[in-house]
Amino acid sequence: MHGDLHGLQTPLGARSSRNQAARLLIPGRPLRWMVTQVIKLTGQNPAYRLTHRHTSIRKAPSQVSSLLMKRSLNKIHWPDALQLGPVTVLTGEERGKYPHGNSVLVRGTHQNVLIDPSLTIANRGAPAPVDQVFLSHVHEDHIPGMSQLQGIPVHCHEEDAIGLTSIDGLMSMYGLPPTLEEEFRQEVIDDFHYEPQVDVSTFSGNAIFDLGGVEIQVIHTPGHTRGHCAFLIPQARTVFLGDIELSGFGPYYFDAHSSLESFEQSMSRCRSLDADYFVTFHHKWVISGREKFLQMLDDFANVISNREEAMLEFMTEPRTIGDCVSKRFVYRPSVDMNLVQHVETRSARIHVNRMLEQGRITKVSENTYQAA
Ligand SMILES: [Zn+2]
Repeated sequence: MHGDLHGLQTPLGARSSRNQAARLLIPGRPLRWMVTQVIKLTGQNPAYRLTHRHTSIRKAPSQVSSLLMKRSLNKIHWPDALQLGPVTVLTGEERGKYPHGNSVLVRGTHQNVLIDPSLTIANRGAPAPVDQVFLSHVHEDHIPGMSQLQGIPVHCHEEDAIGLTSIDGLMSMYGLPPTLEEEFRQEVIDDFHYEPQVDVSTFSGNAIFDLGGVEIQVIHTPGHTRGHCAFLIPQARTVFLGDIELSGFGPYYFDAHSSLESFEQSMSRCRSLDADYFVTFHHKWVISGREKFLQMLDDFANVISNREEAMLEFMTEPRTIGDCVSKRFVYRPSVDMNLVQHVETRSARIHVNRMLEQGRITKVSENTYQAA
């Protein structure tokens, strides 16, 4: 038996307030969006069945061995799409390598929800009717497909909504220095097709949406952004992890609204997710098997502790923030991007502050630190 979703249980008696919340979310559409039950969140769901018929079974990708994962797609024409019961992973170009990403379509009997419309959606359009769009968080690469979905209501966590309603709001989330911001702002408009959204609704952590026989459970996983969320689709035993991307680069917590501590708490929260398939927006695509996921999550999280240990080692001599920036604890020396200096500076400050608080380093003079 897998671990339970500790901390995600809806308190007894919360059903009516959740119903109310669901109605508030989408005014005028209450009947289509009723939260109909309190879901038992622990253990396997013995009632889980694949309900879609597959007209053909092709060879599954090497990293995905389960017979539940097949590439025949109920009339969805999308190269490299992957079907997980009611969930379709709409594999992005370059398998979701930034600036691309892997969107997810969740189909219920009443509603289809598209999660994180990627640049590939912007280029190709959605492969099936979409009733609602959900966002794991608001960043430029998770919304470009909205340009193909005009008039479709879009939902995100309340703490990220500021990025959907204006480009200034989005820019405030990044907190870039003015020299970088100007260029990036234009890139977001030109390359990611940014337009302020009109029909925006927000959800809070732990919201549950019933699409008709299929549910999406919101799991608030802040850190990358304040409103970052994962989505659990129990009927597909699948989690969409957004930008908890499990890459070798490690967690990205360098925006104005990012939080290293929140990211760490979110990762430990993800350890108790009860699912068999784990979908990342970038890089890793689909991970099959919870044990493999946990190993990858550990490796991903360890990037942070390894970085901090390397910094501590470096600080056996007195060092300034500038020294840490030059040494590079985030990017390899070969990486040449405008963003590097900014990110290295932010990272150095975050870790220096934390190690100061923990007494692992001391301030030996103005802006100079040394291992304690
Ligand atoms: Zn992001």
